[in-house]
Amino acid sequence: MCAHEQRFPADAGEVRQWLQGAGHIAVLTGAGVSAESGVPTFRGAQTGYWAQFRPEDMATEEGFRAHPRRVWDWYQHRRDLLAGVQPNAAHVALAQFQQQQPGRLTLITQNVDGLHQRAGSTGVLCLHGDIFAERWLDTPRNCCHIDHAVADHPPYCDRCGNMVRPGVVWFGEALPYATLEAAQKAVRACDLMLVVGTAGAVYPAAGLARLAREAGARVAIINPAASALDDVAHALLCGTAASVLPALLAPP
Ligand code: NAD
Repeated sequence: MCAHEQRFPADAGEVRQWLQGAGHIAVLTGAGVSAESGVPTFRGAQTGYWAQFRPEDMATEEGFRAHPRRVWDWYQHRRDLLAGVQPNAAHVALAQFQQQQPGRLTLITQNVDGLHQRAGSTGVLCLHGDIFAERWLDTPRNCCHIDHAVADHPPYCDRCGNMVRPGVVWFGEALPYATLEAAQKAVRACDLMLVVGTAGAVYPAAGLARLAREAGARVAIINPAASALDDVAHALLCGTAASVLPALLAPP
């Protein structure tokens, strides 16, 4: 048993019973769900991106404006990495559950990697955007057409200088309103919320787990380490996403 798990009664069998009895299930995933696909998390002590970079340099508008090439290249590096990895057993288990039990599970993710969708999940609520999407940094003028952007890093409009940026939500930026609203609605209505592979440090995403608990749902956390949301949980399942989710979500 993990040290943090000892503070809570954690029993996968009990969580499975909650799951089978739940009318609706909401799942919030974070970078940890993709770790076993070979995608670095942000906060891993050795391999996490924030062990190598400062968030304010790489994941803010100010950082991009200060060093657009450096930031663009980092996102390009992450895109290249994602092109070479596959969804893991956790992504697949979630997608299969959705396919076998349509309408019962809403999947909310902080991830920008598209691995849930590649595993076959549908209706994924992507709170922090899509790393493969592109948009203009400043409000586009008539001269700004993504297809015509000068191929550089970052691509830019050769008439007004507007730069193309990745379609992710950076620190300090608002989440897509309709997506967040849909996530809040699903969380308020769920009977069970699974919180998988997130440090629970980034808001408003982490607040969804608190909202679920306040609205009366049971909350189970799946994470091999302690998280900032542990106080919200009714159960802590200490393990990796790919080792816990397939058995938890398997048909009865
Ligand atoms: P985080 O890096 O802050 O935390 C990762 C969490 O995953 C930690 O709690 C860690 O203990 C846990 N974890 C590590 N390996 C795991 C495994 N195999 N199974 C289950 N859990 C595991 O990530 P976060 O909380 O998602 O938050 C931060 C932000 O990072 C989000 O905004 C997200 O957009 C972004 N991000 C996304 C990706 C991606 O799309 N794959 C990758 C890195 C960061």
